[in-house]
Amino acid sequence: MTVVDIAKELIFFDTSGPPAREKPCAEWIRDYLVDLGVDAEIQVVAPDRANVIAKIGAGKGPGLVLSGHIDVVLAGELDDWKVSGPFDPVVRNGKLYGRGACDMKGSDAALIQAATELSKEDFKRQLTLVFTAGEDTGGWFVNRILEEGKVTPEEARFGVIPEPSMMEIVRCHKASGGATVLILGKAAHSSRPEMGVNAILNSACLLDEMVKLQERLDEVVHPLLGPSTIKPTMMKGGLKGNIIPPSAEVSMNARLIPRHEGNEAIAGWMEDVIARCVARDPEFKAEVVKARGGRALDVPEDSEGVVLLKEILGTEPVGVPYYTEAVSYTTAGIPTVICGPGSIDQAHTSDEYISLEQLDRGVGVFKELIRRVCL
Ligand SMILES: [Zn+2]
Repeated sequence: MTVVDIAKELIFFDTSGPPAREKPCAEWIRDYLVDLGVDAEIQVVAPDRANVIAKIGAGKGPGLVLSGHIDVVLAGELDDWKVSGPFDPVVRNGKLYGRGACDMKGSDAALIQAATELSKEDFKRQLTLVFTAGEDTGGWFVNRILEEGKVTPEEARFGVIPEPSMMEIVRCHKASGGATVLILGKAAHSSRPEMGVNAILNSACLLDEMVKLQERLDEVVHPLLGPSTIKPTMMKGGLKGNIIPPSAEVSMNARLIPRHEGNEAIAGWMEDVIARCVARDPEFKAEVVKARGGRALDVPEDSEGVVLLKEILGTEPVGVPYYTEAVSYTTAGIPTVICGPGSIDQAHTSDEYISLEQLDRGVGVFKELIRRVCL
C-alpha cells in the first residue's frame, strides 16, 4: 500500500464526533501493523473508542514516540462537500480530499508508511507509534496511555506529533484558561435607583480595567507566541426590567504564554482588577468565582527533538496558537514537539484536503527521524 492508500482506508472510517467511534479504525491500524510484523495493540478507552499503541524494537532503550490522533471533527453540511464525500476520499489535482485528510489521517498514514518501510531494519532503539482517540472530539484519551504507563520516558526520549504544520517545527504553544467574576450590587425598584447598587453599571468599571490589564500583558512578549491575552467573552446579569440588578457575571477566556500558565496567574490578575475597581469606587464589590489556566507547551530550543528536526529540515522552530497533545507527553516527561504535513488552514473545513507532495514530504522526514534516533 502507498501512503495515499493508507490515508484513504483511514478516512473511510467515520470517526467524526462527538460521538467519535474510533475503535474500528483503531482495529484496522492494529491489524495492518501486525500483518507487517509490528507489535501493536489497541487500548479500549470507552464503548466504541480505542487508542492504538505499536512498538518496534521494544525494550531496546529509549527512542522516539510518533503520535497522531484518529478522531476527526464533524463533517458539517454535506452540501458543502463539493469534491468528495467526507468519508469517501478522492485524489484530484495532486490533493487527497476527505474529512481528516489534513487533520490528521494523512499524517497518521505518513507515520505508518515511514515506520513500516523501515520495520525490517535492525532497530537499536525503540520506536513507538501511537494513534489516539478523542483529541478533537472530547475525551483526550492520550492521558489514558500515559497514566497507564503504556508509553514512558524509558521508552521514548522525545516525541513528535504530526498536527498539520506544513512540516514546520512547532516547539511551543499557548495554554488556554478562563475566569468568571461575580459583581455584587443591591436590588431596588428601578423607580428608586438611589436605594440600590447597580451591578450591571458597575461591570463597566471591571470591563475598563480588563482593557488596562490587557495593555499591561501586551508588554510581556514571548519570542514565538507574543503576549498572553484575556478577553471578556460572556456576560449575564439582572432579574427584571424594573429592578436595579443585584448581580452581574462576566466570564473571560484567556490564552496564556508559558510564564503565565496555571491557575495562580489568572486568579491574581482578577483579584488585582477587582482591587483597582475598589480603589476607583469603594462601594464596588465583586468576587472571583472561577480562575483556571492550563499548561502551555514550551520545549526548549536545545532539546533533542528540536535540534534533530532543525538538522533534517533546515528551518527554525515556530509557535502556534492551537493546543495539542504535546502538552500531555511533555508533562509526562517526554518532551514533544509538533511537525506534520498539510496546512492547519485546511483542518476542520469542508472539502478538507492534503497535498500529495506534503504527504510524501512527511513520510521522508519521519523516515529520516526514525533512522537517526532508532537505527
Ligand atoms: Zn489535529
